[in-house]
Amino acid sequence: MRVLMVAPPGAGKGTQGAVIAAHFDIPHIATGDLLREHVARQTELGRAVQHHLDRGELVPDEIVLDIVRDAFEQARRRGGGYVLDGMPRNLAQARALYQIGLDLGMTANVALHLRADDDELVRRLLARAALEHRADDTEPVIRKRLALYHEVTHPIVAWYAERGILVTVDAMRPVERVGRQILTALEAMRSLVDHVPESARRPIDLTGLGAAFGSAD
Ligand code: AMP
Repeated sequence: MRVLMVAPPGAGKGTQGAVIAAHFDIPHIATGDLLREHVARQTELGRAVQHHLDRGELVPDEIVLDIVRDAFEQARRRGGGYVLDGMPRNLAQARALYQIGLDLGMTANVALHLRADDDELVRRLLARAALEHRADDTEPVIRKRLALYHEVTHPIVAWYAERGILVTVDAMRPVERVGRQILTALEAMRSLVDHVPESARRPIDLTGLGAAFGSAD
């Protein structure tokens, strides 16, 4: 299974990425974590990107694309599955990522979109700030990251809808329930992936199915 996630900060990419990785036994590639590791180790790359992370701005595309290409090559040696968290953040990255996927025979089967309201996201990120002390979890930087998401990241959702690989999930519900809904959807996609070409698929929107999923839990 090859999954990429498109989600605003605070929607649960990291948590749900870990759930997906454990369920399908695939590597969880989180660009934010990889960048933060470089910053913590103060590598040359880490020193170059630190101010972007601190200010909630995007790191230049070439840097993250290099990191992801390396991570994909490692994932390929482990069987080729992955869940990618934090990339793509804009349409140029989405196109470049597709090209890397084509080169390595690893294009995504599913683009998982986690949808949530800004007020809830700010609340969650401020709660996380109290626990994790991330440099970019202060309210002004949070607002900036959300604005950036709406402006440059969210438009790629439509691109994946056109490609026929989009699954949208409502991330406002409790985290365990969101996780179950994601795994149910991905398991259903697994058979589609093998038998139905992308061009023949429709985007799947599970955000209206709250009651059905709720009662099934
Ligand atoms: P995240 O952990 O996904 O919220 O990412 C934290 C920060 O890392 C972002 O605010 C950006 O500064 C940087 N970052 C992570 N992924 C990317 C990416 N794909 N492109 C550019 N910057 C990124």
